Formats: sequence, C-alpha cells, structure tokens
Amino acid sequence: MEDILTVKELSKTYRNGRKALDNLNFNVYKGEILGFLGPNGAGKSTTINILSTLLKCDQGDIQYFNNSELTLKEVKQKLGIVPQELAIYEDDTAFQNVKFFASLYGVNKNEIDKKVEDALDKVGLQERRDDKASTFSGGMKRRLNIACAIVHNPELIIFDEPTVGIDPQSRNHILQSIQNLRQEGATIIYTTHYMEEVQAICDRVIIMDGGVILLNDNLNKILEDNSASQYAITTSLKISEEVLQKVNELEEVKSLELTDESTVVLDVEDNSSLNRVLEMLIENNVNIISIAVHQNNLEDVFLSLTGKKLRD
Ligand code: ADP
Repeated sequence: MEDILTVKELSKTYRNGRKALDNLNFNVYKGEILGFLGPNGAGKSTTINILSTLLKCDQGDIQYFNNSELTLKEVKQKLGIVPQELAIYEDDTAFQNVKFFASLYGVNKNEIDKKVEDALDKVGLQERRDDKASTFSGGMKRRLNIACAIVHNPELIIFDEPTVGIDPQSRNHILQSIQNLRQEGATIIYTTHYMEEVQAICDRVIIMDGGVILLNDNLNKILEDNSASQYAITTSLKISEEVLQKVNELEEVKSLELTDESTVVLDVEDNSSLNRVLEMLIENNVNIISIAVHQNNLEDVFLSLTGKKLRD
C-alpha cells in the first residue's frame, strides 16, 4: 500500500502550556477512507489543522504524497479541506461560490467552468447552481462547502465533522459523495462524532484521546477482535440460585448478571458458547421464553478504550 501521508512523532503544546498532541505516529494509505475518532479535547482538530498546514507542530515530521521534494504550495494544491465552519458567501450563487474557490486554487481558466459544474454535480447541487447560497438549507450549505473544497480535484481530502446537525437526506448525500470521491481515486480522512457513519464508510479507524493514539486498525479487524456477544435470557419462572451458580461455573461464561428475577444477562466467549448455556438451562428444566442478543459495535470498543461515550 502506498503512503499518501506519513506522520512521525508529531507533538504540539499550545502557548498556555496545554499539551494537545504527544508523539503521534500514523500513516494514511492511498485510496482509503480513514475515520478519525476521539472524545472532545482528544486532539483531533489540532491534528487536522496541522495536517491541513493551518497550524505548526512543535516537533515531528509529515511527509505528504510520498514525496519529500514537494513545496508547501504544491502540497496545498493536492489537499482538499472541508472545515466545520462554512466558508461560503450567502449572497453569491452556488456556481459563483465554487468558482471563487477554483480561482483561489489556481484552476486553469479554460477548465474552470467545467470543474465547477463537476464539483456541484458530485454533491448533488447541479440543479441549484444559479440559486443564492442564502436560499439553501443547512445541509445544502454544507454540500456547497464540500464542492468548494474539492473543485481542484485534490488527492487527499480532510473532512472535519461534515454532518453535524443536518437533515438525514443531506447526510446520506454527503456520505455517498465521500464514497464516490474515493471511487474516483481520492484518499479521505474523516472526523465525526457519529459511530454509525464510521461503520458505514471507513476502511480503517484511528481512535485518539489525551493527545495519543489508542487504536489504529482496520475496521473489520476491530469488530472481529471485539466480537464477544452479550445475551439476555428470560425464563418463565424465577431462576434458582442453584441453576445460576451452575451457569456461572461454565467455562464459556465470562460474566453473569441477574437484571430481574427471571432475566439473566451473560457475557460469553463467542457465539457458540450460547449453546452450552442453553443446554445447561434445559437440563435443569428451565423454561426459556426469549433470548436477546447484543453484538459489540464500534461504540462499545470506543467506550472500553476511552471510558467515555463519543458524544460526551
Ligand atoms: P478535539 O478536536 O479532539 O476536540 P482539540 O485538538 O481541539 O481536540 O484540543 C486538544 C487539546 O488542546 C484540548 O485540551 C484543548 O483544550 C486544547 N486546545 C485546543 N486549541 C487550543 C488553543 N488554541 N489554545 C490552547 N489550548 C488549546
């Protein structure tokens, strides 16, 4: 896999003495969608601002596009930054807004109109190209913001929480646009507070907190490694102490909790361990009336790593 970004020993302490990043090391691979997660204050914005060349680090080294010879200007031309704050002009049309950014990025005059059309098309705003941004919904403004950031066909696009507080239709549009951009060859770094978005679109996930990386792995691998399940088994009558004791002594049972007198919640090694538990209950004449399963998801992994919910 080709590195599009190589980050080595990155540290940043703000003037007030707050250490925001402490020796970060990670790579971004060409063509991937990398999810960047962390609770508030984790250091995500600081990292993103440094990668975007908006903020200087105190220590460390970033190599962009596998090429140490690139000038800062060349790097900026290959980068697309979608900031959280909207950077559009309300009184200008969608077309004029995107065209303004195209000229800022130095897009060739002969190609400019075509590129603006393409960018508007990618975010699904082609039909509204001649309407003023002030007439757009919040979600449409965010899509316009994205069009402005991608009009110069950047190779690496950094999204800073692009779906905060928008309607579901625009959210789906944005997630689809990101997948399309990757399909066309772009590499994506995506920060969000929404786990379900990461599970839907990311290939790899970095979870950080307190300025350090806690986890950096392939999403499927993370989910596989944390695939333990929890089962809530409800029975028709009160479960006796004796039966509970027997279940608890099974090797496959990691923990057990009685949530009411006829429902027991179990953490088991893997899905096949449930069979052993059920056998034991049936052997002891327990009448099972329901089994509910809770499969660990990324939110559970995040909680166990950071001790926090992502939206805390
Ligand atoms: P996140 O984006 O994950 O919420 P940030 O990168 O914004 O985290 O912040 C990381 C840490 O750096 C926090 O403790 C925050 O208070 C601190 N911080 C962020 N920006 C500044 C700043 N401009 N001056 C001083 N401290 C800052």
